[in-house]
Amino acid sequence: MPSIRSEAILLRAVDYGETDRIVHLLTDSGGRLTAIAKAARRSHRRFPGTLDVFNHLRIEGRQKPRASMALLEKATLVDPFLGLRRDPARYALASFLVEMLDRLAPEGLVGNDAERLFEYAVGSLRLIARVAPSPSLRVMLELRGLDALGLRPELGRCVRCGRVAGDDIAHDHRVHFHVADGGIVCTACSLRLDGLVPVELGTLRSLAAGLASPADQVDRITLSPRMLAQAARLVFRFQRFHVGVELRSERFLDEVLPIQPSDGGTSVVREAPAAAP
Ligand SMILES: [Zn+2]
Repeated sequence: MPSIRSEAILLRAVDYGETDRIVHLLTDSGGRLTAIAKAARRSHRRFPGTLDVFNHLRIEGRQKPRASMALLEKATLVDPFLGLRRDPARYALASFLVEMLDRLAPEGLVGNDAERLFEYAVGSLRLIARVAPSPSLRVMLELRGLDALGLRPELGRCVRCGRVAGDDIAHDHRVHFHVADGGIVCTACSLRLDGLVPVELGTLRSLAAGLASPADQVDRITLSPRMLAQAARLVFRFQRFHVGVELRSERFLDEVLPIQPSDGGTSVVREAPAAAP
């Protein structure tokens, strides 16, 4: 049986049978991994209080041939990100991000792709544990998560004709984001297209800055309310198109960290979601 030695973030855990626990992990060497920890609720030596959501772990285990689940033999705690449990907004944002990773992270990722996705997860949880999240940070971390998952929207040029985003291809500093194509389209190419989200060039620049930012400084990017509404709608529609269903943690996140507090939720974001492919 090939052995597993890796660092991992615990995305989800469910009790199984009398004493076992099934865990969904994101590892730094292989993407998503589902594993069973036998007698986990009894063995404080092999699993000393470690199999809880968000925990950064060092794991050892085995992958049985043709088995759907790996066998988790040992887990030690690297970082519990205690700050995430400090208030509802942090907890909700972290829950949302790990649920998105649990849904979309591929199994069997290798090399740079696995490392990049893992670094995104650790960097984001560490940041949310350290700073109180704003609606801007919520949108930026969601966008960076999609990017780390290999779903990077094209924000710099028209996906139809390739022209670079600028005033010459915009109308009133505004272009459209085409959800199904995963990128912006210029005014000329947007005619007769459905599923368009209007977005200003300044908002696109802010989103690009959010993607380019070092992980520990994403909280420094703050969007004006108007740009935030545009950015949130774009990222939400793009995310929903790829996830296909509403994430369970999304409503709670809307309650405790709304994009626009004045209207009591993200109705501005949620109108007419795109259908799944
Ligand atoms: Zn075009």
